[in-house]
Amino acid sequence: MSIARFWRETPVRYNLGGCRCPTCLTVYFPPRSVCPVCVQHRSSIGRLEPFQLSGEGEVVSYTVVHDAAEGFEMQVPYALAIVKTREGPQLTAPVVDIDPSEVRIGLKVRATFRKLREEGKAGVIHYGYKFAPMDDVHRPPERPTQSETAPSTAPTAVASESRA
Ligand SMILES: [Zn+2]
Repeated sequence: MSIARFWRETPVRYNLGGCRCPTCLTVYFPPRSVCPVCVQHRSSIGRLEPFQLSGEGEVVSYTVVHDAAEGFEMQVPYALAIVKTREGPQLTAPVVDIDPSEVRIGLKVRATFRKLREEGKAGVIHYGYKFAPMDDVHRPPERPTQSETAPSTAPTAVASESRA
């Protein structure tokens, strides 16, 4: 499938469709047509393949935004983070479902797709990706309730009968 066709059929903003260089396996998002790593090797030009990002990654940088951008319905404040995806590309997107003050570098997140804003009477809806903490990481791990290890106060009844 050509990159152009791929672009039309899978809008990049909806599902993190990137592309991968089959030569050096570098993943690009948004998709591009030429691998800059391999650009000196003619063979790789125009041969990048569509590649679906998992949407999982971790926060490598973030800032807390207090002013809402015009037209956006994001509740302020919110954390705007640079997320390094598992596959390599870094994306800038809001982090939702978490108090902005709890966002940390290294926080494991997963991409979600939500309505960002609606535009005018036409009701054109803009979608985009956001990140939310991975449930299993954000929630405190459930620890098995440890059975009582406190020393028993009961006297150890060791009957040592000595019969004469
Ligand atoms: Zn390459």
